[in-house]
Amino acid sequence: MSAAHDQHPGTGTLAAPLTSVLDTRTAKALSGLDLHTVGDLLWHVPRRYATRGELTDLAALQPDEQVTVLARVASVTTRPMRRRRGQVMEVVVTDGRDRLRLTFFSTRGPQRQLAEGRVGLFAGTVNSYLGTRQLVHPDFMLLDATSDPDEAEAALRFAGDLIPVYPATRAMSSWRLGKAVATVLGPLTSLPDPVPASVADSQGLMGRLEALRVVHDPPDRAALAAGLRRLRYEEAFVLQAELARRRARAAAMPATPRREAEAGLLASFDRRRPFDLTPAQRHVGRQIAAEMAREHPMHRLLHGDVGSGKTVVALRAMLAVVDAGGQAALLAPTEVLAQQHHRSLRAMLGPLADAGMLGGADVATRVVLLTGSTPAAQRRQTLLDVASGDAGIVVGTHALLSEQVQFFDLGLVVVDEQHRFGVEQRAVLAERAPSDARPHVLVLTATPIPRTIAMTVFGDLDVSVLDQLPPGRTPVATHVVPVEDKPHFLDRAWQRVREEVAAGHRAFIVCPRIGNESEPGEGTSLLETAAMLRDGPLAGIDLGVVHGRMTAEDKDAAMGAFAGGDTPVLVATTVVEVGVDVPEASVMVVMDADRFGVAQLHQLRGRVGRGSAASVCLLVTRAPSGSPARARLDAVAATTDGFALAELDLNQRREGDLLGVAQSGRRSSLRLLSLQRDVDLIVAARADAAATVQSDPGLGGHPDLAAEVARMTAERADYLERA
Ligand code: ADP
Ligand code: MG
Repeated sequence: MSAAHDQHPGTGTLAAPLTSVLDTRTAKALSGLDLHTVGDLLWHVPRRYATRGELTDLAALQPDEQVTVLARVASVTTRPMRRRRGQVMEVVVTDGRDRLRLTFFSTRGPQRQLAEGRVGLFAGTVNSYLGTRQLVHPDFMLLDATSDPDEAEAALRFAGDLIPVYPATRAMSSWRLGKAVATVLGPLTSLPDPVPASVADSQGLMGRLEALRVVHDPPDRAALAAGLRRLRYEEAFVLQAELARRRARAAAMPATPRREAEAGLLASFDRRRPFDLTPAQRHVGRQIAAEMAREHPMHRLLHGDVGSGKTVVALRAMLAVVDAGGQAALLAPTEVLAQQHHRSLRAMLGPLADAGMLGGADVATRVVLLTGSTPAAQRRQTLLDVASGDAGIVVGTHALLSEQVQFFDLGLVVVDEQHRFGVEQRAVLAERAPSDARPHVLVLTATPIPRTIAMTVFGDLDVSVLDQLPPGRTPVATHVVPVEDKPHFLDRAWQRVREEVAAGHRAFIVCPRIGNESEPGEGTSLLETAAMLRDGPLAGIDLGVVHGRMTAEDKDAAMGAFAGGDTPVLVATTVVEVGVDVPEASVMVVMDADRFGVAQLHQLRGRVGRGSAASVCLLVTRAPSGSPARARLDAVAATTDGFALAELDLNQRREGDLLGVAQSGRRSSLRLLSLQRDVDLIVAARADAAATVQSDPGLGGHPDLAAEVARMTAERADYLERA
């Protein structure tokens, strides 16, 4: 990661290893925090700032928390140890109201300096001993006047009103970290700056070095805010510059223009389509048609609420390409979805998908399915159809990417992304086409995505949105079923399922896990639930199951039996989360609904209410009323606005989760930027970065920016390649 610094001129100072500027012990302790270079350390900004004179609220400390508190010594007592020789020293510190005990199993060492009235920072892990919260052998630094020259020197660096508190560890206290930062920052006189002066001017940004200084040792709140803003802006700007370069590079590639034909598949489809397009669908359709008619590839993201009709938009684009003599590929993230897409495209196309068959239309094409589990004989035939061009539309999983699939003339790739592919994978896909003609690319997401996500995670794409649902939809009524306080509600839920089935409708029962001994886990298991329902509340109703451990054929058969009505109740895991389109489904019961995220529940709920029948979604939970989990479910029940829920989801997830980085203590993909907080800043940085890249695509005139982009790309490869 950090080794990438070395390769780029202009970042020399920041790339220097910490071992070259700090003592070995300190450098080693810092490497435990994944800080290896000067740059790593300088961007390790304080987590918060204590205000001198404002003591830390001790009542808020939680057991097992690693804390640094600002407090005053209230009393110091010593007593002999019970079982050993020596003295225990007990120091009680206070914030003026609450107290915290510090215990030292020795009276020698620096704790000698602790005396009533002294104020300092104390760091350690909170534990609870006989009901009293304490820190055992905390590390500390006294901040008040003192006669000890070493101590005075240390305290001097905290002379300001704002005392930086760093995310610290046992091996590295906050103030030792602060001292290391000061050692490194002190001698610096200049730094390369990736933000061009003109941009810094127009945004009113502080200089880079000055920003680092005030963030690590703020003179006041206003300067601190300006320093943080500068560093965040810089991060957004560098990221957006890279994304702008990717967009520019992709847009400069050659592509075959695919112009709509007068009388072709698209025209026939539009004639047989049983509904009118929504104005939003029409608008996006025109956008796509115009871009595919150009000699450079389209790279567009289409997002919109569940049921807004993204698939129809994608299908119309695919038909236009087939009319223009090309082929279209539709990539789904799972086999179930690929099968579902294959089935529903064929259903929507009817005779238009039966080229060469009895009863096929005059103008028609073939829609083929290619996944990892396609049997060998069929696969050979399918590969031939793809290579000969007989198959106009090829549906598959990402196996389509990795395998030697030869297209006759691939004109459009539709990626049904569902948040599972990444920027890098999209690039790989485009590169599989011959270099003289890249396919056009349309990416679909399952649910609406917040603006900052569109601009970062999908920042290499242009964005379209379907912000309208087709008319005549009855919104799904959603209710929380609290089994703990109201067990009879669950009986009513099963009663409702029986009624819907009796009326000719279908029901989904979704469980968080499959279940059996090898997967003990928590939450309601699918296998147990299916057995319980068969023997109990749903006895006499044919009930199917579908989950991820079934073979592709079995899954397909189960979905087919459900769609066709042979098994009107389907007990499923989240394999039915996206894309499944069974208009007769009118009720969904989600077991242990609190185990799912907000956006995921909204997506699941989108599986019902797709037909004309009034539909209901029941969120079964054991989460107590008033708990955060329950509040999330209440929010899902309160609105069907996927855009509002997407924002809520973003606010509730940590950045790391969002960008697909494991919780393993690795630094988040973003250093200081927050996709929640920094919306305006990201919007501004995106516009500035686009203008900079447009005027200087190779960044030859912006070497500091080029170097920082290279460093960021190397360090954040995991983010850009989010899988
Ligand atoms: P999404 O993929 O955005 O969730 P779909 O494309 O699967 O939505 O469409 C949901 C359902 O609405 C499908 O059954 C589709 O045939 C239907 N549909 C799409 N567009 C319209 C429209 N303009 N009017 C009526 N029904 C539509
Ligand atoms: Mg869809």
